[in-house]
Amino acid sequence: MDAVADALKRSFGYDEFRPGQREIVDAVLAGRDALALMPTGGGKSLTYQLPATMRPGVTVVVSPLIALMKDQVDRLLANGVAATAITSALDSDERERREQAALRGEYRLLYVAPERLVNPNFLWLLLKLQRERGIALFAVDEAHCVSEWGHDFRPEYRQLGQLRERFADVPMLALTATATDRVRADILSQLRLREPLVHVASFNRPNLLYDVRQKSKGAYNELLAVLRTLRREDPDAPAIIYCQSRNGVETTCAQLVADGVRAAPYHAGLSAEERTRNQEAFIRDHTTTLVATVAFGMGVSKPDVRLVAHMDTPRNLESYYQESGRAGRDGEPARCLVFFSPGDRAKVEYFIREMSDPGQQAIARQQFQRVLTWAMDGDCRRRGLLAYFGETLAEENCGACDNCLNPTEREDRTVDAQKLLSAVARTNQRFGLGYVIEVLRGAQTKAVIERGHDQLSVYGIGATQSAEEWRHLGHALLAQDLLAEATSVGGYPTVRLTPLAWEVMRGQRMVEVARPRAPLRQARAADAQMAQMDGPARDLFERLRLVRRELAEEAQVPAFMIFADSSLRAMATRRPVTPPQFASISGVGERKVAAFGDAFLSEIRAYCDEHGLELWPEGGDIPDDVATARRERRRRERPERAERADSSRLRDMDTTKLPTARQTLEMFRRGLSLDEIAEQRNLAHTTLVGHLCDAMNAGEELDLERLIPGERLRLILETFARLGVTPLSPVKEALGDAVSYDDLRVARAALRNQQAEG
Ligand code: ADP
Ligand code: ZN
Repeated sequence: MDAVADALKRSFGYDEFRPGQREIVDAVLAGRDALALMPTGGGKSLTYQLPATMRPGVTVVVSPLIALMKDQVDRLLANGVAATAITSALDSDERERREQAALRGEYRLLYVAPERLVNPNFLWLLLKLQRERGIALFAVDEAHCVSEWGHDFRPEYRQLGQLRERFADVPMLALTATATDRVRADILSQLRLREPLVHVASFNRPNLLYDVRQKSKGAYNELLAVLRTLRREDPDAPAIIYCQSRNGVETTCAQLVADGVRAAPYHAGLSAEERTRNQEAFIRDHTTTLVATVAFGMGVSKPDVRLVAHMDTPRNLESYYQESGRAGRDGEPARCLVFFSPGDRAKVEYFIREMSDPGQQAIARQQFQRVLTWAMDGDCRRRGLLAYFGETLAEENCGACDNCLNPTEREDRTVDAQKLLSAVARTNQRFGLGYVIEVLRGAQTKAVIERGHDQLSVYGIGATQSAEEWRHLGHALLAQDLLAEATSVGGYPTVRLTPLAWEVMRGQRMVEVARPRAPLRQARAADAQMAQMDGPARDLFERLRLVRRELAEEAQVPAFMIFADSSLRAMATRRPVTPPQFASISGVGERKVAAFGDAFLSEIRAYCDEHGLELWPEGGDIPDDVATARRERRRRERPERAERADSSRLRDMDTTKLPTARQTLEMFRRGLSLDEIAEQRNLAHTTLVGHLCDAMNAGEELDLERLIPGERLRLILETFARLGVTPLSPVKEALGDAVSYDDLRVARAALRNQQAEG
């Protein structure tokens, strides 16, 4: 077998390379320099981590943020790859210990911050390391930080060029998701890459669904509806909500909390501890929703974010691409929702005026205009975004943006546009859109009459259309550069005509505008994948998620570090029995078979037994004992089940035909205790509790008193209020043997159910 593919499976559990990964890995293994330009979520880390497990010597990774390093190291350790980070957060003893361990050759990968790397003491350590163990590779992550033209210039990165002189033989791999030509050229020259392989991946992110909406007063409710739909399917689906200002963050966050969403804020006005705490809670899935200014997200690699929403118009398409790109890094479907409004221009203008260079200001204004044009356009969102990076989308209909899924019709609005533009001209371009619309609609306000605008020929010529309709048209004209916003002497926003506007009024130019439409029907995020699974697979998938959640809570790590959803889905459909079968699932490497194999395999077995499903339907090596045990069990169970059902209160209803969770629920509703159900169905207590929790998650109400005596329940709820509901382990620790994990799970589900209702 191909040694590289073999290592990919063994250490990382993957069966295939993502596009571009193989080329880069091969170049690195051959000792060649390389520059990898890949979108967020493209799988850049693997291109140095895999060679690191194969090449002799240690791979030194330069990374700008401690949080990012820590995350990467944790993931590597979870896969059984020895790695560490040497950062300023360590005390000197610990640093010394790690340095010594590095010199003893105990790590495959060593993460460091750029400023440390070029520090003389550290350089000395590196030289020693080079002599004694060999340095396999320098990997420079977020390499766009060397460029002043990128969005995140860091002067320390400039000094990395030194590495070339001191370590002439060590290959260097630079990685970034920022693709402009300017930045690319800067990376190549600053890092002095030698005849590098330059790999530019497509920036298309097919798993992201773009949903662009015009902001109205109801934007918050629309957001809430999207969140609720998302969470009906996955109560913990992580979401990032971006707001332009701190104030926006605070307000939106407070509203969400009031609506029962587990949300936390993140902005520069909070203390560093608070920010770290909220960020950490988000990464660990204790908080599902982070409401943040765009400062959040740089260097946070949470791969399972399912929604990124922008409550304000993004400043430019490049930053929008980066920010929205924080969704769905795991390749699973995710949604990017934007609320835009030409009115946000004023907020952006505030930042633009802070810029000192008038040239930069002009560029910034132009870029904002381009966002509006993109947002108001009826064309494919994806095509528009990719065009910004000079990439062309091959397909006509991308199938995953609001415009492609729900095309708008464009209509000829030339005559209305002429009316609106004339009204702007007749009022001498000195008023805001709202006032112009009053004149058009013939409003009899004091202001209109005092100014004599009721005498104008345009007065009242637009009375048959609502102010809202005129506003929509006005915004479209702004986006099409037929109107421009300006500020009056008194500091009020006004609209004025552009040269193009005169062409319209002279009848030399047509105006087409997208018809306003109802918001996009909620395409459910994981629909596509879920649809490919049959009922039992979906059921089992949910059960495996519970197992994953418990394991994650025990180990105090985010769930995605155990397995990605895609791996769980594969387990649920393929139903492995043996460790080798388990290992053949994508995302399951050697280390994970050892660490988690038992837990998942026994859940899969239990499920298949309960439902009389075939294990590993692909056929082949099912161990005899399993097959026999299963046959035995079925023979044993069937007649008995029927008999018991007869003698029980269930005579009037054959519950055995119901799906399993439903069956448990029905029996419980009919007054059977959990112990009785456990006996009749031959299922573990924990499994039944899982069923009841599922039912509650789906909105079913249960008589809790029957599950947890009142006093104990009160105690649990109090402790939840103090410690939160996730993870459960601290709650369990606090309450000791007075409660079981099953009690806690039930109480939590009931609580969430209540919150979802309230
Ligand atoms: P980037 O740094 O480019 O944003 P990452 O390196 O964080 O992306 O990878 C994104 C996600 O893709 C991670 O969850 C990673 O485990 C997963 N991944 C990477 N390579 C593969 C592969 N060959 N097969 C399946 N998943 C992969
Ligand atoms: Zn599209």
